[in-house]
Amino acid sequence: MRYLLLFTAGFFVLCPRAVYAKVRVFACEPEWAALAEEIGGDQVSVFTATSARQDPHYIRAKPSLIAQIRKSDLVIGSGASLEVGWLPVLLRKAGNSRITPGNTGFFMTSEILPLLEKTGASDRSHGDVHPDGNPHVHLDPSNISLVADELVERFVLIDSENQAYFRNRHADFSRRWSAAKARWNDLVGSLRNKKVVVHHASFSYLENWLGLSRIATLEPKPGLPPTTTHLEYLLTILRKHPAAVILRTPYNPDKGSVWLSAKTGIPALELPYTVGGNEHCQDLFSLFDHTLELLQGMTDVK
Ligand SMILES: [Zn+2]
Repeated sequence: MRYLLLFTAGFFVLCPRAVYAKVRVFACEPEWAALAEEIGGDQVSVFTATSARQDPHYIRAKPSLIAQIRKSDLVIGSGASLEVGWLPVLLRKAGNSRITPGNTGFFMTSEILPLLEKTGASDRSHGDVHPDGNPHVHLDPSNISLVADELVERFVLIDSENQAYFRNRHADFSRRWSAAKARWNDLVGSLRNKKVVVHHASFSYLENWLGLSRIATLEPKPGLPPTTTHLEYLLTILRKHPAAVILRTPYNPDKGSVWLSAKTGIPALELPYTVGGNEHCQDLFSLFDHTLELLQGMTDVK
């Protein structure tokens, strides 16, 4: 129970009040920070561990992150090995029992979502950074809904005094998100079955939602940089079977997609990928709005 000391009618009284003690959220990626702010409003304080220009597979477990996670009430991330190179180190060094795996304060969103590309053949030893299935789960609006539904329960468990507040915020977000999903679903029919090439398997959930057809990946395996041999191989494939666009995130190197674009004439496109991925994407709504706008603006759609 948290208390606020109030001076009332000449007496100091202890009142249960969470106003001054917000739920401290450590969001591993910007998309989860944005969702935590949507549901938590001014009763949460959100720290975002990574930016849209950082590859969440490869983050240094630096002291500033340890300091933040040590005082957190809730850690939210994607899981499925996305943060395996850094989050366990932070958790170990933080020594914070509220956020250890298995507790309310540890929420890896992939644990409640149907994962794509889950082959069961874990071969991280060979460089595959998706041994548990694809962890880039946020670019399907239905996944955002499912995570929002769970996140509000976590907030209520952590700070029951603000239950009504969190539930109202969640209901309001869900109404707005459902309306946006209906609008997006009406817009996206023209993208169905369009062929795309991607740098890394970062857009699998977007592809699945929109019905895009991925015909090639610049990385020979998730996490292995494109090799000259692999790019030359893709060139022969794409000359015979052209794609509409070559996609990359803000944190993927552009060299491979720019080279392949120059050789094939297929446009290369950087999608924002997450909140903050470009100046248009300041929240989850504008992230999806702008992503669809960019995809629909693709030229020479095959
Ligand atoms: Zn990945």
